Amino acid sequence: MTLPPFDLHRPQSLEEATELADLYGEDAVFYCGGTELLLLLKLGFASFGHLIDLKGVEELGGVRTDDGALVIGAAVTHREIEHSDLVRERLPALARMERRVANLRVREVGTLGGNICFSDPHSDPATFLLVVDAEVEHRRGGEVARRTPISDFVVGPYQTSLGEGEVLTSLRIPELPRGASVAHAKFAFHERPTATVACLVRVADGEVVEARVAVGSVGARPVRAAAAERVLNGAPAEEIDSGVLAEAGERAAEAAAPVDDSTGSAEYKAQLVRVLVERTFREAVA
Ligand SMILES: Cc1cc2nc3c(=O)[nH]c(=O)nc-3n(C[C@H](O)[C@H](O)[C@H](O)COP(=O)(O)OP(=O)(O)OC[C@H]3O[C@@H](n4cnc5c(N)ncnc54)[C@H](O)[C@@H]3O)c2cc1C
Repeated sequence: MTLPPFDLHRPQSLEEATELADLYGEDAVFYCGGTELLLLLKLGFASFGHLIDLKGVEELGGVRTDDGALVIGAAVTHREIEHSDLVRERLPALARMERRVANLRVREVGTLGGNICFSDPHSDPATFLLVVDAEVEHRRGGEVARRTPISDFVVGPYQTSLGEGEVLTSLRIPELPRGASVAHAKFAFHERPTATVACLVRVADGEVVEARVAVGSVGARPVRAAAAERVLNGAPAEEIDSGVLAEAGERAAEAAAPVDDSTGSAEYKAQLVRVLVERTFREAVA
């Protein structure tokens, strides 16, 4: 596998990146770590004469807080998130999730923004970000940024709602509600996850006052499982009935609409979801 020839551009600002994208049109593509894009080019699944490397665009870097939200630049790598003191302090479950993405080589260069923009149905971050109500910030150079809830941004396999020539600039994660805790679990036997579940649980006086359940990697796109959330809401947190958890797992498996693919049959994935819902709920409560 060899890479076909292309011209490489390294803009230092979003305005410059947009100008390049406009200039070369459909023959140009943005990239960050290249872990997905370069593979596609090598396999001959895509072909572009101009690659626009976004890593030099300063506003796509860094992890910070803004108005209570945790803001992660689109070009921040999985490994940087895993090791970020701010992420570990504000949302340790995110750092733990990132530690389980891919392998060290991919985590070292692959970015959170690249993962979300590629919109591979087998994505851990896309599922995790659903449960924390993350927003995606995106813009074209010269224009003001737009914000889209992650649930509307990831629209299907390899499809997002990113506009023509727009760049994903950052992910915003609002402060968790007081008393809330998040857990993520996945199952994988190939490189990509076969099933991913994230669960947020908020407990008050021993009772679940808010449960959020997201399921991904099993169907066309990650989803929130509202019916499963309704089953868990109001349940006793520590001494939850196993039947209630089984019911929540069942509802989550239905919502996820698993499909047969190379990572497993739909029924097998549904069973993984049932198991992972119970596991993540118990972990979040603990
Ligand atoms: C071996 C392997 C194992 C993996 N395992 C997992 C796993 O366990 N869990 C998981 O969730 N993922 C997994 N992945 C996916 C991995 O997380 C992604 O490959 C990585 O995050 C993509 O980031 P990147 O910067 O390399 O993207 P790139 O390859 O640079 O870009 C990907 C796509 O997004 C576009 N793009 C990138 N950044 C932007 C931006 N800021 N604005 C607009 N468009 C942009 C590009 O045009 C391209 O189409 C795996 C990948 C590999 C290769």
